[in-house]
Amino acid sequence: MGASYTVDVIPGDGIGQEVTPAATACVDALAERHDFTIEWRDRDWGSDHYRSTGRMLPVDGLEQMADADAILLGAVGDVDIPDDVTLWGLLIPIRREFDQYINLRPSRTLPGVPSPLAGDKKLDVVVVRENVEGEYSEIGGRFRRGQPDELALQEAIFTRKGVSRVTRFAAQLATERSGRLVSATKSNGIIHTMPFWDEVARETVAEFPGVTLEKVLVDALAARVVLAPDSLDVVVASNLFGDILSDLAAAVAGSLGVAPSANLNPEREHPSLFEPVHGSAPDIAGKGVANPVAAIWAGGMMLRHLGQPEAADTLEAAFGAVLAEGTRTRDLGGTASTTDFTDAVLARLRK
Ligand code: ATP
Ligand code: MG
Repeated sequence: MGASYTVDVIPGDGIGQEVTPAATACVDALAERHDFTIEWRDRDWGSDHYRSTGRMLPVDGLEQMADADAILLGAVGDVDIPDDVTLWGLLIPIRREFDQYINLRPSRTLPGVPSPLAGDKKLDVVVVRENVEGEYSEIGGRFRRGQPDELALQEAIFTRKGVSRVTRFAAQLATERSGRLVSATKSNGIIHTMPFWDEVARETVAEFPGVTLEKVLVDALAARVVLAPDSLDVVVASNLFGDILSDLAAAVAGSLGVAPSANLNPEREHPSLFEPVHGSAPDIAGKGVANPVAAIWAGGMMLRHLGQPEAADTLEAAFGAVLAEGTRTRDLGGTASTTDFTDAVLARLRK
């Protein structure tokens, strides 16, 4: 009898309801094959919960999830729900309560997924974004409102603990990949926080003899994602820079429909959260045409984090093969429905 995991599932809104069952079905098929079990705890939280109670999460929602091994999220948000309600009512409380200080976003050009990259350029990058401090702080304010000398001030907070733990995670990941780590900086223009980031990153990576650290100005790095993607492998970045770079990398890889993301508490003191990068996509919700790859891949990232790397490899190989053989959803120029695609992956997993 293999390991057993408890996972909270929040399908959420819109296409979250369609792609999440695709992910759980694939994980269940892998559980049989790789001898582990998953107990899913279904959570009907999100916009409907907000409409009936005024909250995205129940008052004790975080407590209810605290003993889970992981959280699998579809998407939350709807046209009539303000964006900040989704963010501050669900995503940020989960991130903070469970100290998910790493946002991990792999982006890869996949056979069968058209990329805007020129020629036969390929991308296979993992962006490691600092997820709880940095530029997104509440410190600052608006002053002298309406006066000619009106001003706004926004502080960024970087701590030694915060920078060293995100860089350590990225350096560890680099040792498992090519050994090349790029750190995004802007220490020529941002003269207090960014030199500190560079210094702590350098000291931390020095503990990893197999890793070479290259610090690159974020503007030049953005250009490199497009012009020389194969020169990049693992990229570590602050909250703001990582946000921008990971969206850029996802766009370069081809489609939002194939971009997964993990919000990690690497020490596993608390559950980590796995989700597609895309939102609830109200424009296509309920039509059965959503691309389930991002959600399925997020399920694979969850399995890797839970200690089932072979199952994760099996899953990535399976959806990669289905894409490569030409089964594609509409966003990728194909005609397959969400369930057509998922069934093709399941058929491979059950072979
Ligand atoms: P949010 O505010 O929740 O991020 P959004 O409208 O900004 O929502 P998405 O919901 O991610 O962003 O949708 C952006 C566009 O990408 C939409 O046109 C949507 O239909 C498309 N899209 C997003 N995810 C998928 C998917 N899995 N399959 C197909 N198309 C998708
Ligand atoms: Mg969006």
